[in-house]
Amino acid sequence: AYNFNAGPAALPLEVLQQAQEEFVDFRGIGMSIMEISHRSKEYEQVNDESQSLVKELLGVPDGYQVLFLQGGASTQFAMIPMNFLKPGTAAGYVLTGSWADKAAKEAKGFGEIYVAASGEASGFRAIPAPGDIEVRPDAAYVHITSNETIAGSQYAAYPDTGSVPLIGDLSSDIMCRPIDVSKFDFIYAGAQKNLGPSGVTVVIARDELLQASPKHVPTMLRYDTHAKSKSLYNTPPVYSVYIVNLVLKWIKSHGGLEAMERMNRDKTKLIYDAIDGSGGFYRGLVEPGSRSIMNITFALGSEELEKRFIQESEKQGFVGLKGHRDVGHLRASTYNAVPYESCKALADFMNDFRQRNG
Ligand code: PLP
Repeated sequence: AYNFNAGPAALPLEVLQQAQEEFVDFRGIGMSIMEISHRSKEYEQVNDESQSLVKELLGVPDGYQVLFLQGGASTQFAMIPMNFLKPGTAAGYVLTGSWADKAAKEAKGFGEIYVAASGEASGFRAIPAPGDIEVRPDAAYVHITSNETIAGSQYAAYPDTGSVPLIGDLSSDIMCRPIDVSKFDFIYAGAQKNLGPSGVTVVIARDELLQASPKHVPTMLRYDTHAKSKSLYNTPPVYSVYIVNLVLKWIKSHGGLEAMERMNRDKTKLIYDAIDGSGGFYRGLVEPGSRSIMNITFALGSEELEKRFIQESEKQGFVGLKGHRDVGHLRASTYNAVPYESCKALADFMNDFRQRNG
């Protein structure tokens, strides 16, 4: 299948094959990794090694810790304000689409927020310029969504928030390109797009933010609980972390994040070129400067034509090209594990479909 699913999404074939090989006998121990204690030396090694690989691949500076949590990125929408939005402060949210909106709505239940910038007036066709983001000097933090999975937009450059902590939801673009982690104080990402299966959420945060959660916060929703126990406070999502471990090794063996970015740019260029060169037959939903290299959103002239596009593409082995139910139209998700050949096949299909229907 040419898998363009938005998430859970394609995993590297080599990773799935290695997992299959190790499924019933994890590296010679005679059992599956799912059948052993999370306190065993075998699992601790997977946990430690995965945290180190996240640091190594992203170039995380000293003074940050990597956590593996549960509950998906959606739980972070609540944990962040529960831990950081203290009474008397307000947090800035940059509204770039559905996911930023969800994060902001959740935070409202825990304290005061303000809209630091919004792309709503333009139908979320563009990411606000860094200079247009209001950073109040007394803000608890500013929250951004690095890549809007549904709208198909992505920050080309991150804002500088000075001494105000910058928090980023990188769920749908973590490890798609090198980033300067030091610009952020806190990053989170559900694993199920670029890092592995659902079930584990990666957090990368400055040590200071992980020291002392407010007293009223329940144990499992406190960052200090997980930071103190190296993410082994309770039973972790062992199998998900194990697959993340294999994906991180796959990224490393394929040249790291510079190589991922190069591949993602080459892949997405094929599809964006098919849109831009179509004389208006395909219409991109995002302005060129804010286009995502992970989720490409586009429309055809009518709903009927879009339906035909989906039906024909499915017959030819393309999966997941229907747009999200909130915005409709079409979407191709081109995460790290989606091969160049799949994108080439899609671009060819798009050109052929245009010739037949244009
Ligand atoms: N943030 C972004 C940018 C997403 O794309 C998603 C899911 O697609 C989420 C948050 C929610 O993630 P989860 O399903 O892990 O709660």
